[in-house]
Amino acid sequence: MKTPEVKTLAFRPEERNIFFHLLTGCNLACRHCYINREQHGTEMVSRETMITWLKLFYEPAKESNVIFLGGEPTMHPDLAFGIKKARELGYASVTVDTNGYLFHHLLERISPDDAVLSFSLDGPDAEVNDPIRGAGVFATCTANLQKAVGLGFKTSLIYTVSRLNLDHLPRMPELLADLGVNRFFIQVIGLRGKSAGDEAGLQLTPAEWLETVPAAAAKAAGLGIPTIYPKVFLDKGEKFECAGRVAENFFIFPNGRVYRCPLGEDHPIHSLEIKDDRLIKRTELNEDRFFELQIPEGCVMNRLLQAGNIPYGPDSAPLHRISCCLLKQAVGL
Ligand code: SF4
Ligand code: SF4
Repeated sequence: MKTPEVKTLAFRPEERNIFFHLLTGCNLACRHCYINREQHGTEMVSRETMITWLKLFYEPAKESNVIFLGGEPTMHPDLAFGIKKARELGYASVTVDTNGYLFHHLLERISPDDAVLSFSLDGPDAEVNDPIRGAGVFATCTANLQKAVGLGFKTSLIYTVSRLNLDHLPRMPELLADLGVNRFFIQVIGLRGKSAGDEAGLQLTPAEWLETVPAAAAKAAGLGIPTIYPKVFLDKGEKFECAGRVAENFFIFPNGRVYRCPLGEDHPIHSLEIKDDRLIKRTELNEDRFFELQIPEGCVMNRLLQAGNIPYGPDSAPLHRISCCLLKQAVGL
């Protein structure tokens, strides 16, 4: 069989992506949860705020996309309303990142044209997934995913790879094909929330990532499922670009903080904030300053947050440059 082509998805300046955290609450307590309530509070945006902020970030001159997140966004009673409003405002695409519980009868309140549903699952069976995401989660998530597919929704699945489930990633493509999932996103374990600092020992080595992830992605693509995963390591001579400088991504939290880079979300270094429904540029030391720095290791934020993860050669030069965490590779697309 022909090996599917892997391409790097360059940043698109004509696109604007809004990652809208509607609330920080969740019905689950995943071992690697990235939510930090100390930093982002426990509030839920009101229906009025949801609409005002959707309008605030909509840019008619660009392809504006919104991704609704939480916590668990389907716990918000007005999510269906917000999805329809976003479409009405002109957002080119709406995605809901869900843990699969689909509260408030979401599937009955929106149509397949309104939104793509992106389910999170961290194992190909309950034995692998449930110790990470909670008892009974695999069964509920896969049942609701099948229901959504049956109703004609476009679906994707996000698998967060850590030390806990790396070995089971190669078994995911068959499951996705059986479930009828349209797209597969492989995500690297984050540096935020519970997995920050790696006290939990979840982080992967470069070798582990490179040996397993591209092969699993190629296998999924071979089964007809386009797969997207973070680039992580730049090839020799490949250009480094920081999305904070060359792309338009906004990570919005219910307490009004707006980050341009998700890696800094455990810290009060957001470059923007929403005050009285206006977007304000912060003047305090913030992530903006890091975006400007050029270092041999590539991404500055990665260097600051997990310096120990970058191996160096005898000449003290880094063996790998780390790409922007938002730079993706696609196979089968
Ligand atoms: S589903 Fe998401 S928000 Fe909820 S506990 Fe898991 S990682 Fe955290
Ligand atoms: S991950 Fe690194 S390169 Fe990407 S936006 Fe953040 S600081 Fe910039």
